[in-house]
Amino acid sequence: MASAALPIPEPGPVPAPAPAPGIGPAPAPVPGPAPGIGSAVGTGGPGPAVGFGAGLLVVQPLRRKHCAGCRRGPLSMLVLEDAAPRCLDCADLGHLVYLPRGDTALTRRSREESGLSVVVVRFNRRKGRYEREGVLVEEAALARAEERCLADAEARRRRRARDARLRSAQDAHFAELFAAEILRLFPGCPADRARGIAAHASLRGSGRVGRSAAGRALSEAAVVFAVRASVRHVDTPYDRLLMSGVPRYEARRLIAADVETLIRTWGEDRDARTARDGTAA
Ligand SMILES: [Zn+2]
Repeated sequence: MASAALPIPEPGPVPAPAPAPGIGPAPAPVPGPAPGIGSAVGTGGPGPAVGFGAGLLVVQPLRRKHCAGCRRGPLSMLVLEDAAPRCLDCADLGHLVYLPRGDTALTRRSREESGLSVVVVRFNRRKGRYEREGVLVEEAALARAEERCLADAEARRRRRARDARLRSAQDAHFAELFAAEILRLFPGCPADRARGIAAHASLRGSGRVGRSAAGRALSEAAVVFAVRASVRHVDTPYDRLLMSGVPRYEARRLIAADVETLIRTWGEDRDARTARDGTAA
């Protein structure tokens, strides 16, 4: 009987080298032991405080743990006090609210606002270390921090709206100047046409001449260029020629005279034209 050879009280599979009975392999030792956290009874491991600074630390246990004081449990969060788990109420932390990590600004501000705040950690088995899961802060502190964050978001929204209004006012102002300059150079150009050319040429982000450095400086060349382009597209069959397959340079040659005629007409001083028309008439 082969089985008889086996010792009866088989020791069973050797448990992994001292995993903490419930908290995680127990928090790493801290230079300058954090109060209340060292090696917990039976955890056989280091305390969780490494990297989280000295002071209070709350642990989210991996296993079911009950409070050594009031026996409540299993606990979702606990404090190790003299190596024994205690619930937050027994540890006088019951008045704090839990803020999971994720919103850096909210976390930072909550801790700033909170007279008492405690980092909450949990052991990550895969990585073999404790990781910060969140913080416990005073409820009023969290509310104030949320208000500050909301105020920030609101302030940013208002600033964006202000910037947009400013930009569109600048655009409108620029288009006005552009139109005025068109009319100065081309007094014969109908005013609404001048406004249309200016608006088209100064559309923000269009990359059109009105937005170029020369256009912004309202150089005469830029204004003439915009007017000429408008005349070409609006007052001549240029676009139709292009659509019907006439090469661009050929189309330009075909309409050049029309463009120059209208440009010259618009460019003439009103009085001169009136005088000339009058003379001609
Ligand atoms: Zn308790």
